[in-house]
Amino acid sequence: MRIDVLSIFPDYLDPLGLSLIGKAREQGLLDLRVRDLRDYTHDRHRTVDDTPYGGGAGMVMKPEPWGAALDALVADGAGAVPHLVVPGPGGMPFSQAMARTLASEEWLAFACGRYEGIDERVYEDAASRMPVTVLSLGDYVLSGGEVAVLAMVEAIVRLVPGVVGNAESLVEESHEDGLLEYPVYTRPSVWRGLEVPSVLLSGDHGAIARWRQRQRLLRTAARRPDLLHASEALGSEGLEIHVATAGDAAELSTLQRACWVSEAIANASLDIPPLTESLQAVRQGLREWRTWVVRDSGRLVGSVRGRRSAQDPSTWEVSRLMVAPDLQGRGIGRALLAFAEGAAPEDARTLWLNTGRGSADNLRMYKKAGYRIGPGEGTFPGTVDLTKLRQPVRGG
Ligand code: SAM
Repeated sequence: MRIDVLSIFPDYLDPLGLSLIGKAREQGLLDLRVRDLRDYTHDRHRTVDDTPYGGGAGMVMKPEPWGAALDALVADGAGAVPHLVVPGPGGMPFSQAMARTLASEEWLAFACGRYEGIDERVYEDAASRMPVTVLSLGDYVLSGGEVAVLAMVEAIVRLVPGVVGNAESLVEESHEDGLLEYPVYTRPSVWRGLEVPSVLLSGDHGAIARWRQRQRLLRTAARRPDLLHASEALGSEGLEIHVATAGDAAELSTLQRACWVSEAIANASLDIPPLTESLQAVRQGLREWRTWVVRDSGRLVGSVRGRRSAQDPSTWEVSRLMVAPDLQGRGIGRALLAFAEGAAPEDARTLWLNTGRGSADNLRMYKKAGYRIGPGEGTFPGTVDLTKLRQPVRGG
């Protein structure tokens, strides 16, 4: 495989000479060349940036050096062209699946942007000659593309045949089949009083495989519920649960009002936050809680949220469990509750929720799900707190 990296800070890419990638280069599995974009400038100051048309803050990378650098790459290719990858926070998310696709290419070129990014015409010009993909490392802004290229090249190159000695170790890794990896242990079997799970010492390969698969599901439910297919998490068909986004706030606000009217009647009070809070407060809630929503043919019909208690980190709080009034009584609420419980961190010992003292239907459902009512007044006036102990789960 050949990789070219274009940057105004070639030294930033020195780590690409180390470890697995360095070895792959030594062994001839990888031909990696780092080029200084300033070598393609023609003025005394080797200028690569200029002020943006239309005004605004910051500088924009000029098109000419990029054009010249890409021309030189193409001229070097003897008829072949690279797949150009441009790291950028506005790109498609870089994923293991994408790493695998790119690992099968013969030639990749990476263009490291700086400042406010690269003049848009560079992308257009490049796309007329080669495939171009803009890829983001994650939903945050770095100062330049170099760190993103280090991460992407490492993820891609270790998938090139021959680079990682034991190819089997690649198959079981996180994200390879949509789940996170199970916890791993090595000698000694007891360390600082902490024991390795006994099943791993049993020699029973079937039991070990089952334990590992269960750990993968538990870990994925706890840390990345968005990766878990609803049927896997719930054992309930046809229910698609998604992580809520800020774009769900308006519909959530409407659903809350519809769902909590019956609670207002049951508790003879309108002073119930989900019934009265502003859209602004719903948006704030989405930032402070992990919230999930269920949609039916596009319509938002249910939701639940969870978070670690600020007062007691071993407690997982479940809240705002709601199902559209016309769809209640079909098991959606129970499925959502089970989902929110499954998303609790592995070290959570207690599940907590709160409901109106007069909310007879809710109380019945929670008791059936194994919750016990705590003594006295709940966290909010006119409510009760309910808790359920959670089975300890091994593995961090
Ligand atoms: N103004 C740009 C925007 O808002 O989309 C951000 C430019 S950023 C300060 C400068 C460069 O850093 C980008 O051109 C890109 O190469 C790189 N970069 C920043 N965040 C990134 C991310 N999340 N993933 C990949 N590259 C990123």
